[in-house]
Amino acid sequence: KGLEANSYLNDARRKVAEILHALPDNIIFTSGGTESDNLAIFGIARKYKDQGKHIITTKIEHHAVLHPCEQLEKEGFSVTYLEPDSEGFISPKRVRAAMTPETILVSVMYANNEIGTIEPIAEIGKEILKWRKENNTTFPYFHTDACQAAGALELDVEKLHVDLMTINGSKIYGPKGVGVLYKRRNVQIQPLIFGGGQEMGQRSGTENIPGIVGLAKALELIQNNRLEEN
Ligand SMILES: *Cc1c(COP(=O)(O)O)cnc(C)c1O
Repeated sequence: KGLEANSYLNDARRKVAEILHALPDNIIFTSGGTESDNLAIFGIARKYKDQGKHIITTKIEHHAVLHPCEQLEKEGFSVTYLEPDSEGFISPKRVRAAMTPETILVSVMYANNEIGTIEPIAEIGKEILKWRKENNTTFPYFHTDACQAAGALELDVEKLHVDLMTINGSKIYGPKGVGVLYKRRNVQIQPLIFGGGQEMGQRSGTENIPGIVGLAKALELIQNNRLEEN
């Protein structure tokens, strides 16, 4: 029965990976959007604090991003909170202008949970790639909270140029209390939860199989119907 459950887990991981154009090993299942955002932000900050202690995010992020950033400020990081324009958009040029050699992470949400603006993630991703090339560095990494986008927009992490992406079950008519953190290969994070080494050692604890299977199915159903949903 355990092996049977494991095969359901593997199928769900493969399904989510396929939708994100990622590898199954890049999919970490968590307890929801909040945990995925916390894992991305604290995970990068703690892993790479010796490379720099500056983070760029926006004033319109969900509290699951803002509050971890505020906590990191108390721990000695500096955080730039970008202002959106009058219509709620974050300008890629302003993200670029805020980057310094100390910047290790940029976190900009894909779609806003209050006013519905869709941020130009792929363009911001391109600015970050350009910066890395010009400065001969692998930083900053790029995280997007895609909880509000997963039901309506394309989630191809290659087209979006993101290194980390948060999705949850509850915003796509899936089960609550389950989420995904996509993490690009070679990008490392310090786990938040240590223990038995589940989820490639990135998130320990016995897996929530019904939640995970439900999330993968919900994502498949809604992504197949994306254009209509959008
Ligand atoms: C709902 C939501 C979250 C939190 O997700 P939970 O699964 O409730 O932890 C994070 N970010 C955004 C944009 C959300 O809409």
